[in-house]
Amino acid sequence: MEDLSDVDDVQFLDTTLRDGEQAPGVSLSPEEKARIARRLDAADVDVIEAGSACTGPGERETISRVTDLDIDATVTSFCRGLERDIDLALDCGVDGINLVVPASDRHVEGKVGTSREENVETTVDLVEYAKEHDLWVEVIGEDGSRADLDYLEELLGAALDAGADRICFADTVGHATPDRAVEAVSRLSELGPVSTHTHDDLGLAVTNALASLAAGADMVHGTVNGIGERAGNVALEEVAIALDHGYGVETMELTEVYELAKLVANTTGIPLPPNKAVVGENAFTHESGIHTDGTLKDDAMYEPYPPEKVGRERRLALGKHAGRAGVAAALDEHDIEVSEEELDEVFRRVKEIGDRGKRVTDADLLTIAEDVSGDDRERRVELADLTTVAGGGTPTASIRLTVDGEEREEAETGSGPVDAALNAVQAALGGVADTHLESYHVDAITGGTDAVVTVEVEMSRGDRTVTVTASDSDITRASVRAMVDAIDRLVADEGETVVADD
Ligand code: MN
Repeated sequence: MEDLSDVDDVQFLDTTLRDGEQAPGVSLSPEEKARIARRLDAADVDVIEAGSACTGPGERETISRVTDLDIDATVTSFCRGLERDIDLALDCGVDGINLVVPASDRHVEGKVGTSREENVETTVDLVEYAKEHDLWVEVIGEDGSRADLDYLEELLGAALDAGADRICFADTVGHATPDRAVEAVSRLSELGPVSTHTHDDLGLAVTNALASLAAGADMVHGTVNGIGERAGNVALEEVAIALDHGYGVETMELTEVYELAKLVANTTGIPLPPNKAVVGENAFTHESGIHTDGTLKDDAMYEPYPPEKVGRERRLALGKHAGRAGVAAALDEHDIEVSEEELDEVFRRVKEIGDRGKRVTDADLLTIAEDVSGDDRERRVELADLTTVAGGGTPTASIRLTVDGEEREEAETGSGPVDAALNAVQAALGGVADTHLESYHVDAITGGTDAVVTVEVEMSRGDRTVTVTASDSDITRASVRAMVDAIDRLVADEGETVVADD
């Protein structure tokens, strides 16, 4: 085994658009695949597996959209061991194929219904056929981690002899332990260039990818956010940061990974787990008093690498575990000055909310600070009335706001009542169009259809961001109240006119 820091030129094959799309419930449109492919290319991924041409005409149109893009990455299609699949891939204009052939006896006999010998012959013929058509060819031995290693070697060795550009060790069902991956990849890499395709069923996807590289592989197959069948594929961003941080080995453009993660989460509908490495909401958030205090003294105190490295920012959250220094820092971020005694009182009340199991939002903190310092703030934007019509026709909302003592009324439509209401708020406040809704979350506090829901919005204006929550049994009302409060916070303490004359 090699020391990983001696490994150079590790390449990434991204299969978010193929294996990732095979995750339950995911279906990407041509436009969505094209958008993700462009970002993958911007992140310097070497190969993009764009889909499976054999799936149908819709998928072929989608793959063609990706091959039509002017991108640097090699674009491939997944192909089963059939000449027809290769022809369909060629129709999409791909640069190459990922030819999957059975490797374990379970797949050779049980799934494809052939014999070991015939399987080798077919594979050789298909590789020759694809090479005749000038395709880049990678041969994947499906279920390789459960295959007889001597046979895997024979099969993939024959593929290389027939002209394949590389072969792939596939841990199709996430069965391998690192020693098994090392054993297989060490033997295969004696034959030619080897890729590794790992799944996370045992929670070992990253470990097995790194073990494969140490054993001689030079390409990693993975997906953005680790989405994929069952427990998913290896997350490329995790392999990338582990190689960079641990061994100084560069792969993809790390500053791009967070935007990529959000794009894939939004288009696939698979949310990012808060505790996910690199791209999870909490990956650079510190709440505990000890950790916040330490982080304020030295950024690196409780972080392995700075968030900026992966295109992110550090966040200090207030809650049950908050410390005095963290509260002081949060107040400072909002330019609020308090005396030592006032800080003690703000701190005490923040802990009180935290002890009730709640997160303390910016709005909570600001309200407490105003209360404690007796600084009565006058609201500039207030909700006077809200009416929504949904069910049947186009969802419509009309809203009445009081802005600096003046009433403003607007009606808007939307994809649903919440969307319509938020559009109406924005229309009524045309002059503060420079506020942006950064994120929107809904939590049901209780089960049942009469549940009280809490809506949390994060809004920004210039370099200021505030989070506000509002609870109501009516989700539209909760959404609008949170948004109006956030806007009110963002325009507070400013002499300028909130709403431009129209
Ligand atoms: Mn797979």
